[in-house]
Amino acid sequence: MSKKVFFVLAVSILCGCASFPKTPAITLNVEKLSPEHIAEVKALVAKLEPFIHTKDQAGRLPMLTFKELESPLNASEKRFLRSFRDLEAATVGVRIPFHGISQGNNDLVRLDGQKIRLHGKWTELPPQFLSPQVYPSYQFMMRAMERAIGKRLFVESGYRSSAHQLYLFIFYLSNHDYSIRETVKWVALPGYSEHGDPEHLAIDFINEDGINGEENVAEFEDLQEYQWLLENAGRFGFVLSYPKNAPAGITYEPWHWRYDSISRPR
Ligand SMILES: [Zn+2]
Repeated sequence: MSKKVFFVLAVSILCGCASFPKTPAITLNVEKLSPEHIAEVKALVAKLEPFIHTKDQAGRLPMLTFKELESPLNASEKRFLRSFRDLEAATVGVRIPFHGISQGNNDLVRLDGQKIRLHGKWTELPPQFLSPQVYPSYQFMMRAMERAIGKRLFVESGYRSSAHQLYLFIFYLSNHDYSIRETVKWVALPGYSEHGDPEHLAIDFINEDGINGEENVAEFEDLQEYQWLLENAGRFGFVLSYPKNAPAGITYEPWHWRYDSISRPR
């Protein structure tokens, strides 16, 4: 597992002299970003969105590196983005363990051709990636589900690098009134997501009708596929990472299942 990477703030390139004071770190109000920082987040997301969309369509988004993510940005935007990457997790209320920064260079299995029905129209999901440790168990489990109930679940999100995770974090700030403390309950900070841990990789499931629980948790809970997972996923090494009635600060996510090699079927 890789260690968290720390970055040294750059000395002003305009001066270039060693005695010039370092650029002070950006202080973010974690309860709610200042109006200036909200405007900066909006500008950053708007600038990154076309780039992210292109990567997604090319099936390269889950392997996004920090260097690629920063590539469309100027120096001040990079510095602002890094202030989110370098947030002190414990001080903003993160209660989940650190898994390590995922650089996007892992050995992965690509899933193509996953077709679901969205608004009555067959749509292919962008390519997703699972680690070689987890892919066979996922397939094995889905075959068993199909045999039992005639249905299967699809991978809406499998592996994603920490740079992709960082983008998701700033993207979803708007859903939580630009409060970092609220957003961390829903979106992991880079290094804290199980989607970046190949050994114990998490999968976000979606069913054939496009139900993923994101807008309506109960709709996902009511799925026959979900009930089957509750009863059977453990036999295939999968556990529900964030169950109902978890400690405060961790949001219930019935669609998010982690592979746990300890309970791997023999
Ligand atoms: Zn997830």
